[in-house]
Amino acid sequence: MQVLSVTSECAPLIKTGGLADVAGALPGALAPLGVRMRTLLPGYPVVMRALKDAVSVAHFGDCFGGPADVLAVEVAGLDLLILDAPHLFDRPGGPYLNQSGGDWADNPERFAALSWAASEIANGAIADWQPDLVHGHDWQGGLAPYYIARSPAAGQVRTVMTIHNIAFQGLAPAWKQAALRISPTDFHSDALEYWGQISTLKAGLVFADRLTTVSPTYAEELMTPQFGMGLEGVLRDRRADFVGILNGIDEDVWSPAADPEVRTYKLPKGKAANKALLREEFDLAAADGPLCVVVSRLTEQKGLDLLLQALPTLLERGGQLALLGTGDPWLEAAFKQAAGPNVGIRIGYDEALSHRMMAGGDAILVPSRFEPCGLTQMYGLRYGTLPLVALTGGLADTVIPATPASISAGVATGIQFYPVSVEALSNARTSCVICMNRRITGQRCSAML
Ligand code: ADP
Repeated sequence: MQVLSVTSECAPLIKTGGLADVAGALPGALAPLGVRMRTLLPGYPVVMRALKDAVSVAHFGDCFGGPADVLAVEVAGLDLLILDAPHLFDRPGGPYLNQSGGDWADNPERFAALSWAASEIANGAIADWQPDLVHGHDWQGGLAPYYIARSPAAGQVRTVMTIHNIAFQGLAPAWKQAALRISPTDFHSDALEYWGQISTLKAGLVFADRLTTVSPTYAEELMTPQFGMGLEGVLRDRRADFVGILNGIDEDVWSPAADPEVRTYKLPKGKAANKALLREEFDLAAADGPLCVVVSRLTEQKGLDLLLQALPTLLERGGQLALLGTGDPWLEAAFKQAAGPNVGIRIGYDEALSHRMMAGGDAILVPSRFEPCGLTQMYGLRYGTLPLVALTGGLADTVIPATPASISAGVATGIQFYPVSVEALSNARTSCVICMNRRITGQRCSAML
């Protein structure tokens, strides 16, 4: 089967979050099943710089305000199609944000162009290749199923839409309809309209043949008002075509035995060696207590405001925190303020350091208010770093909570807390029966507070 994956991020070339990891790992994971996946990605400067021997396989005279080429190239084992549209993508800043941290005003046009290019490819724009199926990711790929549904390829090239995070809905003002090549007859609440605006995510949810999201629990949650963010009705209507498939991790990239950032991977000695190095790197005092790590976007979605409030309790109990992240300015400032001998804060994005943190941490904290799947808890599981997570979405599906039954069956893998509140987070360790047993027997728990 020939598949075209349409994504705004793809590791190792360009990454702001889990979408990139998944888009980068999916082709390799599906290849043994007979799927050839080509990935359509915007030609951001960082992507263009990484290309060698790219060949133009399609040219568009007017791609949303300027000419564009589709370049075919292989990078890091990925079969890529790059939308080289300098008027849309050749600019400084990030994939979505300008240098002052605001959204690019033409984001709707930029990613409509990506989706439209996918539809053109589905309709034969590349001379010697056509996909059987087009797979759109999130709002950036949401218009692809729509454009295909309104093109000659409708019904022949099938479409799948995956929700990685419903909080980002690709909203654009209604007056952009013509610029986004949306027919006025499709601007109504059963199609692309979302409360008077255009939603490119909704476009994908309405027009794709099949819908998926990144964990079974998140799929159920999305059909409720609490988590569906206004799109729960659309998803309930499409329940028969909607499935949650748990993300996996790329075990070649996240492999303690082969990871250049890991000093020595054998537990328990390896953990102690990596932990000592990590403490040094974060200027943390030597201590007997557990070292908790966080690698995350700093946002309220991730519950990091709760962690700030629970921090005094964690420190009182002899724990330490090492945090790596970027995000909301107020959270960045508050964590910097909290830095001290037992709290190490690194504001920034650092892939290599994130590996060293998985290697050296005792526990990885993921207190998200909602979490479509979450990857860092799975990295923790792979690196012997106990996940302490909120009971929601993919966190519920990937961590087996410590309970008397799961412990005696030998299957517990971490700790879950619920509801997602400061109190429950602060007290999560008391729900850990491993700790309670050890305290009863007088043993020191090396993993948790
Ligand atoms: P989301 O996609 O919502 O941000 P995920 O847990 O699905 O959350 O994926 C986040 C990915 O980004 C993980 O691979 C994580 O290690 C990585 N990541 C997040 N913040 C940073 C950072 N500051 N430095 C390095 N990697 C980070």
